[in-house]
Amino acid sequence: MPLFTPRLTADISRCVRCGACNSHCPVYSLHSHAETKSPRSWIKLSSSVNKKEISVSVEFIEFMYGCTQCALCSGVCPVGLDPSYIILKVRKELIDQGYVPPMAVAALPEEVLGGEVFPTPLETVAPMAGGRPTYLAGCWGESTPEVDVAASAALERLLGKIRLGDRACGVILRYAGYFDQEEEVLEVLVRENSDARFLVSACPEQVRAIRESHPEMDVRFIFDLLEEIPVGRIRGERYLIIPDCRSPSVGEKIGEILAAAGAEAMLAPDELCCSCGHLVTRRAQPDVIRRLAVGIVNEATAVGSSAILFVNPACYGMISEVIRSAKGIKFSGRLSEPAEELLRLLK
Ligand code: SF4
Ligand code: SF4
Repeated sequence: MPLFTPRLTADISRCVRCGACNSHCPVYSLHSHAETKSPRSWIKLSSSVNKKEISVSVEFIEFMYGCTQCALCSGVCPVGLDPSYIILKVRKELIDQGYVPPMAVAALPEEVLGGEVFPTPLETVAPMAGGRPTYLAGCWGESTPEVDVAASAALERLLGKIRLGDRACGVILRYAGYFDQEEEVLEVLVRENSDARFLVSACPEQVRAIRESHPEMDVRFIFDLLEEIPVGRIRGERYLIIPDCRSPSVGEKIGEILAAAGAEAMLAPDELCCSCGHLVTRRAQPDVIRRLAVGIVNEATAVGSSAILFVNPACYGMISEVIRSAKGIKFSGRLSEPAEELLRLLK
């Protein structure tokens, strides 16, 4: 009897090993096209485990977290498979069967279940009150409070008094394979903020997750609140924009606004996108993310950027930390994220 559910077994068995997905996979590309870091091999080894030709091992479980869930392989398979979803389902079904993810990944729920992510001084800026626009802090709150400081200042200029909500959205739980827990966290977030006039987030993944699960909620990306573009406000800046893999249009729109404001803005190539799934992969396979950071810095240097703008604030925090702490990665310009750039446009 196969290890996985009939549905997942059927999907895995339909893979014809053509490798079309490999050619769209950033992890494969960042590892010099090593077959062991590719969607085809993640599916192939899952097939062997499913047929019990090999047993589930710590190495196999860790191996399955090398995929960053960027979804760039979705839509390219000639037999209609979604490799990123198959990989994610394997993670989920392993957890359902009691196989513990790598310890660093298994520790995620404690970290992202929310609560108290604002730095203390902010709580006095805008006291809690119902019926106001509510800014949602996310998983980046503790590691990069400057995102929330900038976001709060920008929102006060745009909207006046706002409410600060401090619940993470749980999307990272999904990418770790904890589907049920993600739903629970999202439910709590929506319930606790149901009286808000509307919700505002600095993270496109958080916006996407809330819109998809609760289409009735009015949730807006922070940059979308800018009604007029301050023409000529930003001169002499040359941005390399790192898109959120699953919301590429957000990076395009930020680029257009910055260009209208007087800056030069370039979108990084697709394979240098960064999204919440990368945070999970970093915990299990930090080398994948180190290679991504090197690729981003090399690209920024090659195009002469003065600033690297990460559309996803959690990725901003993660890659900034990698660049700061790793030997041999140096970038002389600024690292930034949407809230800070919005505040610059408003000053
Ligand atoms: S989701 Fe991204 S990292 Fe994962 S297999 Fe697909 S292209 Fe590669
Ligand atoms: S493109 Fe589809 S069939 Fe080809 S290796 Fe990838 S998942 Fe398998």
